[in-house]
Amino acid sequence: MEVCALNQFSVGIVGGDLRFVRLCEILCANGIKTCVYALNHPDIPETANIITSLEEINQCSYVIGPIPFSRDGKNLFTPLSNVSVSIEMFMQNVTNPFLCLSVLNNQLIEALNKRNLKFVDLMEMDEIAILNAIPTAEGAIQYAMQNSEITLNESNCIVLGFGRCGKILANKLKGIGANVYVEARSTADLAFISTYDYIPVPLPKLKNVLNKFDFIFNTIPIQILTNEFIDVCKNDAIYIELASNPGGIVDVEYTKNKGIQYIPAPGLPGKIAPKTAAKILYHGLEIIIKEGM
Ligand code: NAP
Repeated sequence: MEVCALNQFSVGIVGGDLRFVRLCEILCANGIKTCVYALNHPDIPETANIITSLEEINQCSYVIGPIPFSRDGKNLFTPLSNVSVSIEMFMQNVTNPFLCLSVLNNQLIEALNKRNLKFVDLMEMDEIAILNAIPTAEGAIQYAMQNSEITLNESNCIVLGFGRCGKILANKLKGIGANVYVEARSTADLAFISTYDYIPVPLPKLKNVLNKFDFIFNTIPIQILTNEFIDVCKNDAIYIELASNPGGIVDVEYTKNKGIQYIPAPGLPGKIAPKTAAKILYHGLEIIIKEGM
């Protein structure tokens, strides 16, 4: 197999949080020509090319966008910059490079396909999403500890969803000594949940047990928790929202009014472990480039 050196390629970074600053450092340290737009930070290496017009990023072979690509559905997520980049502007101007984007909804995928842009959703790559689940789980546990007056040890925790984040989080909660319940909808997942010594909760039975939990960690990216579910939760339960917008709760205000601590926890890898998260992204870029995407 032909081995390609990463430094033959150039990478553009548009927007993003601290993990993208750390990614920029890794790329530059590996001799990869790196362009940066809408990302300001004193740690950005001098060897990075800070560009002032989005069109210039077209010279790069690969462009990596923020995680998530957009929070408001209109603009790219650029928390470290005053520059606002609309999705429309991005798609009009960045037409040549292969786009490494994240957390794309159907509408964005449709718009990208319509323009014949070449792209991948990094968060759909298991090589990235599974490794990312580790800082996500650690962050979820950190948020749970910071916001509660009880230990996780011997607490009743439920993890909603047994995908990549759900599996890793359940494992770490068990290690801390929590009583771990896991909700899933497939029989295979429920069987695995029992095998790992967690308590399985089939989705149709969820409402019957929700009154038990001190901590509810949601990883299901669909609003399945109607007010009927919220009504049975403990009044002092702590709900940690890990799933991307709109999360799992239908009416967040109703939930807060009930006294439940609602803790949004987006972008945990970038917040609690930006260096680790950047290494994971770099690993993902290596795979993409080596596969010749
Ligand atoms: P995943 O592997 O696809 O897992 C999603 C889970 O949700 C699966 O158990 C899936 O069940 C379940 N699910 C999906 N639709 C459902 C529905 N309609 N009803 C019931 N269950 C449903 O995803 P992931 O990688 O774990 O990520 C989970 C979420 O966290 C995503 O929104 C992701 O963007 C977000 N995320 C957030 C952070 C953060 O820092 N907060 C970090 C990483 C990821 P089935 O397998 O049965 O479909």
